[in-house]
Amino acid sequence: MMNKINDIIGIGFGPANIAVAIALEEMYCDKSVLFFEKKQNSSWQNELLISDSDIQNHPLRDLVTPRNPRSKYSFTNFLFEKSRLYEYLNTGYTFPLRIEYNQYVTWVAEHFSHLVKYNPTK
Ligand SMILES: Cc1cc2nc3c(=O)[nH]c(=O)nc-3n(C[C@H](O)[C@H](O)[C@H](O)COP(=O)(O)OP(=O)(O)OC[C@H]3O[C@@H](n4cnc5c(N)ncnc54)[C@H](O)[C@@H]3O)c2cc1C
Repeated sequence: MMNKINDIIGIGFGPANIAVAIALEEMYCDKSVLFFEKKQNSSWQNELLISDSDIQNHPLRDLVTPRNPRSKYSFTNFLFEKSRLYEYLNTGYTFPLRIEYNQYVTWVAEHFSHLVKYNPTK
């Protein structure tokens, strides 16, 4: 059986490569791409999901907004899709909570699961 040859290979599917996947889609890139992620999913810093701890980063500095403020993969659209936008706006937090941000990163990653081999050694 012939192995498929991909144009682009990404090692890891954390925030950096998720942002790359978004950019490739939004640029209508016709190259074939495959990411290898050693974990079973793209959860973000699982060990640090302490309740009430935040990301110490502006919510607009997400996986895509500075490059494309109209993207459907923004943190704002994640909140909207989950019906949490008003709730978030009313929390009064300066920065998103780490737990919520992990949900955002995982939510975006799920859109690209067809491009990712999770836990590839299994
Ligand atoms: C302790 C700590 C706290 C942080 N806190 C914040 C914060 O609060 N706010 C903030 O904005 N930034 C924070 N950061 C910065 C953080 O680096 C970024 O938020 C973001 O996680 C970086 O994304 P990344 O994709 O480059 O790396 P990572 O998030 O590390 O993702 C890399 C991915 O590649 C996978 N991988 C690694 N090696 C392999 C391999 N050989 N094969 C397959 N898969 C592999 C890993 O499993 C992981 O999923 C923190 C960083 C650290 C270390």
